[in-house]
Amino acid sequence: MISPVLSAASRPYIAASVPVLREHGVTITRCFYQRLFAAHPELKNIFNMPNQQSGTQQQALASAIFAYAANIDNPEALAPVISRIVQKHVSLGIREEHYPIVGKHLLGAIAEILGAAAIPELLAAWAEAYGLLAAALIAEERKQYQAHGVEPGEYRSVTVVRKQKESDSVTSFYLQATDGSTLPSFQPGQYISVAVNIEQLALRQLRQYSLSDAPDNGHWRISVKREPGNAATDGAAAGAHPAGLVSNLLHDQYQEGDVLWVSPPCGDFVLQQEDRRPLVLISAGVGVTPMMSMLHSSLQQSPQRPVNFLYATLNGRHHPLKGELNNLRRRHGQVRSHIAYEKPADDDHLQKDYQQQGYLQLAQLPDVLLPHDGSYFLCGPAPFMQIQRDALLARGVAEHQIQQEVFGPSLLQHLQ
Ligand code: FAD
Repeated sequence: MISPVLSAASRPYIAASVPVLREHGVTITRCFYQRLFAAHPELKNIFNMPNQQSGTQQQALASAIFAYAANIDNPEALAPVISRIVQKHVSLGIREEHYPIVGKHLLGAIAEILGAAAIPELLAAWAEAYGLLAAALIAEERKQYQAHGVEPGEYRSVTVVRKQKESDSVTSFYLQATDGSTLPSFQPGQYISVAVNIEQLALRQLRQYSLSDAPDNGHWRISVKREPGNAATDGAAAGAHPAGLVSNLLHDQYQEGDVLWVSPPCGDFVLQQEDRRPLVLISAGVGVTPMMSMLHSSLQQSPQRPVNFLYATLNGRHHPLKGELNNLRRRHGQVRSHIAYEKPADDDHLQKDYQQQGYLQLAQLPDVLLPHDGSYFLCGPAPFMQIQRDALLARGVAEHQIQQEVFGPSLLQHLQ
């Protein structure tokens, strides 16, 4: 998709930036966002503002710029990263005119933080590198918007036709087009962005939610975990964090009959139906949502394909879509499941409800659950995915057999 042909004059300056970005990347991106929002406060409606406060967005952007600089001669390594960014941008409704604004403030931040070290040749090299990247993203995003038949930033109105509690912390919302039309199909594993107005901040906020049911069912379904926050302290103490904005609003204020505005289905963490290798779905917590869509879809489209469903959660009270999984397992002999409960509740029964107590330990599982020729999908908290990925690699599963989805800004560690 992208083959940045950076001029010979710029190349050494970008290469020399790699150690600088490693050291100052987050300071530069922090400065960038401050400049950006001071000049364009309306862009706060596109960015996730709590991620700004917690610093994760600054880290994610710094890691993306670092990865770009470090891999500028390696388009094969950049391609999957670019593809993921394009998908996210399309779900956020990023428009062509946003790119020069971002470029201006990014260069301004580099100049401000590096001071005298930001010589004109270095700034010119970064202007060129940013321009190449922006052109590639704009071209690809244009194609995606056209394929979805939407204008950049155009959202669809959907009505909540059913609201269903799935566990103590997760609730599903079944959505249908408000105008009565049929919602487009999607690839299992994809997500939509949901746009919600946050009155107390006078802001619109966008959050991504994976579609948790099979495509072409006459509805879309999202399953949302309430982020309660940690109210035990005054908010200044270490570990304290406020309640999630959008998840709580959806749980508390959106009822059947209410309307939501959503993006087209996006994302490249998707099931390939033509892949006939055994499917292994490994998730934790609310990371189960894309897995349920993949499970339903695989059973419908490839009834012979074996599916292993491995899942970790706290206990049965925090086990969303449990009944749905059990029904599918009973009806389809090719589904094997393995459930780990960290702290089983009194009414959870070993073997019947869960097969492992404590964390999900892949090293203890038989090959039948983790076949060498499997196609692996991972979704859950970042530390969970890192542990499971390492465990799979240690068992001889190859990198290219593993795909993963991060439910937040990605730090692109595998490129660094
Ligand atoms: P936010 O207000 O965005 O806060 C997020 C977290 O940061 C909270 O835990 C909050 O306490 C903490 N926080 C906020 N401010 C600070 C601060 N100043 N300092 C420290 N911590 C802070 N979620 C689902 O429930 N289901 C899904 O299927 C799902 N799919 C996803 C798919 C993708 C591709 C992605 C990227 C995300 C997905 N998510 C999913 C996550 C979802 O998009 C939201 O991030 C989640 O609902 C939290 O949003 P929120 O507005 O409630 O919380």
